[in-house]
Amino acid sequence: MAARKDWDTYFMDIAYMASTRSQCNRRHVGAVLVQGKKLLGTAYNGAPMGVPDCSEAGCMLVEEIELEVKDGQETVVKKQRCIRTIHAEQNLLLFTDREDREGATVYVTDQPCWTCANMLANSGIAEIVFHRPYPKDDGKVRLLMEQRGIAFRQLSGYEPPAGTLAEVIN
Ligand SMILES: [Zn+2]
Ligand SMILES: [Zn+2]
Repeated sequence: MAARKDWDTYFMDIAYMASTRSQCNRRHVGAVLVQGKKLLGTAYNGAPMGVPDCSEAGCMLVEEIELEVKDGQETVVKKQRCIRTIHAEQNLLLFTDREDREGATVYVTDQPCWTCANMLANSGIAEIVFHRPYPKDDGKVRLLMEQRGIAFRQLSGYEPPAGTLAEVIN
């Protein structure tokens, strides 16, 4: 018999399962809301209900200029982003109640972007656990969490469940 999973692994696995619902082929993100050890919501990135999603209408791409720092070297890079979808964390907030969020933990497959982090900071939650890093907004997001007193940690030594990792374009 396999060893019993710890709670972090258990809830991150569920976040990865939720991410497989995403129809955007640029990014599959899943998020879950946990209060105590109770699962109170799951979400993934997707277009609003009743609106064609990326698999039907294609991604809605915008080009953005970004500063990338590698080995202390700053370079300006052009990146394409899909803005058709509501991010998983934002959908999670749209579909859960404020009182369920007070003091709760959000498990999310990817480190939140600045906008999601900013919204999560005002959502009542007390902790964010993520797996894949998102270096672009790392500095300002960490500072925000520190200022807001929200625990913010990356799950290390974690392997997503088989079959939940989609091939994505970057
Ligand atoms: Zn898309
Ligand atoms: Zn986001």
